[in-house]
Amino acid sequence: MKQIVILSGKGGTGKTSLTAALAHKAAERHQLVLADADVDAANLEILLKPVKTKEFPFTGGYKADINIEKCTGCGRCYDVCRFSAVIPPDSSEKTYSINRIACEGCNSCVYQCPENAITSARTVAGAWFVSESVYGTLYHAEMKAGEENSGKLVTTVKNAAISKSREIAESILLVDGPPGIGCPVIAACAGADLAVISTEPGVSAIHDLERILETVRHFGISPAVCINRSDINSAKTLEIEDFCKQDGIPLLGRIPYDPNVTRSMSKGLPVNAFDPSSPASIAISEIWEEVYSLIRR
Ligand code: SF4
Ligand code: SF4
Repeated sequence: MKQIVILSGKGGTGKTSLTAALAHKAAERHQLVLADADVDAANLEILLKPVKTKEFPFTGGYKADINIEKCTGCGRCYDVCRFSAVIPPDSSEKTYSINRIACEGCNSCVYQCPENAITSARTVAGAWFVSESVYGTLYHAEMKAGEENSGKLVTTVKNAAISKSREIAESILLVDGPPGIGCPVIAACAGADLAVISTEPGVSAIHDLERILETVRHFGISPAVCINRSDINSAKTLEIEDFCKQDGIPLLGRIPYDPNVTRSMSKGLPVNAFDPSSPASIAISEIWEEVYSLIRR
């Protein structure tokens, strides 16, 4: 089993479109398993059109709750909460209450309440799914608004996808990672053989690239870079390529700006399923060959 994670130092660089198109290309010759590790904004399913076969609840962190029968309104919980999650009484509310979105589950109020009126319990923060697509089994998830622990949910999704991949000889696990460099990205990277970093020639490209390269290298993962919409700023594209050459990072290729990418998204298809002869589709085919030659080494 080989594992490839697709990342970007920031959102909006075409990471999910690239993942879907790589899946379409790779599935011609390989057995794939797919994971959408961008659990805060999972949208790979829009392009892969899978059918959900299983659903599991995801239990997140602790949330406090006040028993209004026991509460005497002393206000101690309001004083100790460092997250402004305790709401004092107003004309409509007779006693203190908890803003569950703001509550970080630190339990300070639970210990400080003189009446033992506050309890704290883990809550269902989302769900994760197993779905079947024409490209392979997709593992994906959904966080509820305002919930945390997305790193833990990414790990749950990844572990399930890895187990499935290990059942299939010579499978390839394609992981659509979250944007940025935070905890969910680290969880998405775990155990990857290659990090494909999608960048585009914007003003902050090199800075964003440096951040994500530092993150993946810290965890011992080999990076490779492709430049999306490379022709919108040729000077910046050359700058990115120079940066990669000097840093010894493999360049997978350039993907030109191609209106077929947007058209394919509106149809809910990978660009190479929508129009295999479009410039972006041709470039992504070449990028897949580069990716495959790197993971075979
Ligand atoms: S500390 Fe306990 S008794 Fe005091 S206001 Fe808060 S919930 Fe009510
Ligand atoms: S558990 Fe912590 S964050 Fe939540 S309301 Fe109590 S003190 Fe505030």
